[in-house]
Amino acid sequence: MNDLSRNYINGQWVDWNGDTLDVHEAGTGEVIARVPSSGREEMEQAIAAADRAFENWSESTLEQRIKVLEQLHAGLKERSGEIAETICREVGMPIKLATAIQAGMPATMTKSYLKLLQDFPFTEQYGNSEVQYAPVGVVGCITPWNYPLHQVILKIVPAIAAGCTIVLKPSEIAPQSAYILAEILDGTDLPKGVFNLVSGLGQTVGDTLIKHPDVRMVSFTGSTRTGNLIAHAAADDFKRIALEMGGKSASVVLPDADLGAAVKGTVNNCLLNSGQTCTALTRLLVPADQHDEACELAAAAVAKMTPGNPLEETTRLGPLASAQQRDRVFDYIRLGIEEGATLVAGGPEAPDGCDQGYFVKATVFGNVKPDSRIAQEEIFGPVLSIIPYSDEAEAIRIANGTEYGLSGAVWSADQDKAKKVASKLRTGQVTVNGGAFNPQAPFGGFGHSGIGREFGKWGLEEFLEVRSLQL
Ligand code: NAD
Repeated sequence: MNDLSRNYINGQWVDWNGDTLDVHEAGTGEVIARVPSSGREEMEQAIAAADRAFENWSESTLEQRIKVLEQLHAGLKERSGEIAETICREVGMPIKLATAIQAGMPATMTKSYLKLLQDFPFTEQYGNSEVQYAPVGVVGCITPWNYPLHQVILKIVPAIAAGCTIVLKPSEIAPQSAYILAEILDGTDLPKGVFNLVSGLGQTVGDTLIKHPDVRMVSFTGSTRTGNLIAHAAADDFKRIALEMGGKSASVVLPDADLGAAVKGTVNNCLLNSGQTCTALTRLLVPADQHDEACELAAAAVAKMTPGNPLEETTRLGPLASAQQRDRVFDYIRLGIEEGATLVAGGPEAPDGCDQGYFVKATVFGNVKPDSRIAQEEIFGPVLSIIPYSDEAEAIRIANGTEYGLSGAVWSADQDKAKKVASKLRTGQVTVNGGAFNPQAPFGGFGHSGIGREFGKWGLEEFLEVRSLQL
């Protein structure tokens, strides 16, 4: 059992002797770690440390910031095996994928910011004005469990690059990689107080962080419900907010598309991390006359997703991160059946041979009504809804017909046609004919999916205030 009864405040590990929170292994349900359920006082100490460190760090040179990020990048690479296994156990993502994504992406994103910083203009000249980009101040970072290190990196790397100081409250369900990160940062040249880590519950330490007057920005990834609380709290003293929240993304298959490739690409995307992915393509929109064939193809594709122990190299579908999440997904599958959708594959139970841990069968529903709850609400599990449409206008209407707007996909034999339809989707990113993920392209949502963007220069600009000097 990994005893992590400590917080990282002002460049020091501070032991914690109060209540702790158990961290469970997704594949077995066993307790594998303990972290502090810290109080408001610890959070206040961390915010004070970040506040004290701000003046100096805000005036650090770009070379100093780059050096720290290079050290961070080296540390992430060095500890990538440990990071992958830790997150595989906590979240349930199969080890092969966890190695590439959960451990690989944080290093990739850090590297991409190092490249960006080579020529990012922190000052620009406009006529007789010098426009300066200044760090926003103390930033509170609050993160979820599904990509626990990646989501932290997307905040702290641009925040450090901008000259901000940071208090991180990681997810209490998957907190261990944040401790690895703090250990790495502790070994860099980052001055004390620039990065602080406080473990605990949202309603206590998270609440203190989002309401504290010395915190000038909250960068949050998580549910729309919590994002809403943060937006309200931030309004009281005009904190800046960046919110990355839920999704119900549509994969739109146009009549001329290669149906086999579109269904395969959508199923793989939907089931990534057992559906615990905010950008998951959870609605597959197909021409009505191709609906039955799409259902058959989807059933065949999910049958290939071998479920099992996420630590095994051959496993393609792991468990969910918690018992609560598993039960919530079972409820949604039961609801889909009650709502009259056709159960094409899966169901509200664990796959055969997966009795321990938090497993859910990969599930496909056909003939799903666009307004039904399983087509409108984020399930966050391995559940795909296939929705038939009559014409292109209806497909676009259905795709845009949820409160979310995080991601999407369009498939067509004609790339220009696909781009035209993609441009009509009210969503932050669209994959056209399976286009590759790009760490430099902006990431974020329309509507209830978010405010602001992460990745690339857009992610850095979130942490910068703009000052103009008239000369
Ligand atoms: P959550 O909102 O329950 O928790 C996220 C974080 O917020 C946790 O650290 C939690 O402790 C904290 N929190 C909870 N209540 C709080 C409060 N009152 N004040 C301050 N902090 C509080 O979300 P979750 O269940 O951990 O994560 C799943 C959700 O995250 C999904 O809805 C998913 O779509 C979303 N998500 C979005 C993105 C994105 O980039 N758009 C990425 C990953 C996950």
